[in-house]
Amino acid sequence: MTAVDPLRLATTEDPVPPRVRLRTEQPAPTIASRRSSGARIHEARPTVFDIRDMSVYYGPNRALMGTSFRIYRNLVTAVIGPSGCGKSTFIRTLNRMNDSIPGFRVTGQVLYHGHDVYGSAVNRVEVRRRIGMVFQKPNPFPKSIYDNVAWAPRNLGLRKDLDLRVERALQRAALWDEVKDRLRVSALSLSGGQQQRLCIARAIAVEPDVLLLDEPASALDPVSTAAIEDLMHSLKARYTIVIVTHNMQQAARVADRTAFFSLDRAERVGTLIEEDDTDTIFRNPRDTRTRDYVTGQFG
Ligand code: ADP
Repeated sequence: MTAVDPLRLATTEDPVPPRVRLRTEQPAPTIASRRSSGARIHEARPTVFDIRDMSVYYGPNRALMGTSFRIYRNLVTAVIGPSGCGKSTFIRTLNRMNDSIPGFRVTGQVLYHGHDVYGSAVNRVEVRRRIGMVFQKPNPFPKSIYDNVAWAPRNLGLRKDLDLRVERALQRAALWDEVKDRLRVSALSLSGGQQQRLCIARAIAVEPDVLLLDEPASALDPVSTAAIEDLMHSLKARYTIVIVTHNMQQAARVADRTAFFSLDRAERVGTLIEEDDTDTIFRNPRDTRTRDYVTGQFG
């Protein structure tokens, strides 16, 4: 537990606001060393989200039932499963992105660094700042490249060293070299892949702790997709990443941990079947439903 509630922190003029510090972070073991020791990749890593028996409803309809699992610091966790099993619902529930949908309701608990994201005293703006999100379709604002990245810091009153903040976000999103000479041109003039990296820069400009990516490459060509995947490998040193993907090869390429969701046959509602190290989910899953899905035999 941190000394201050991370969801109620006041905004700050510090260009690098305090993040929840790692005390016990260890370098990830290699796959070979994990296999020989039986250790799991997340061991010794702090928990970022502890999701406990979470069910999600839209009005009378339950979209997800009884979901419990943990998401660990500085790892990429992929969420996979067939269409309609609640992958987007799940990821959007982590930062209260569904709050404005009439009838949306969550039961159980979503603990973020030990604090209930749906607690009554929680500051939703702070939740969104700490837990950033990038969507399937690149959605830059019809503003300049610079103003897109500066938008959230300005809104939060983080005006000090804004140029530095914008540059750093664009560098971390691997876009700086391509746009540094045209920061004042419209973001809409960028290619689709560049626009998506701009959206990632926009999300990280306020120094979040977590990045939620909802099928971030599904609208992109293979070269742009590879750039986004490369980016995830570099970003996870700094951020905890949760990615929804319908592309299993992508999950295998980018994710340390993978959660497989499916539709419960009896209740026709989304449910977590299993989650584990990605290697285990793809090579040695516990549940036959996971095996059928990852081997393409899902009916
Ligand atoms: P996935 O991302 O796995 O395709 P979704 O989370 O989009 O699944 O959808 C899970 C279920 O929740 C579906 O039955 C879908 O119809 C329902 N659902 C999703 N969004 C809404 C919404 N805004 N209002 C009502 N039902 C929704």
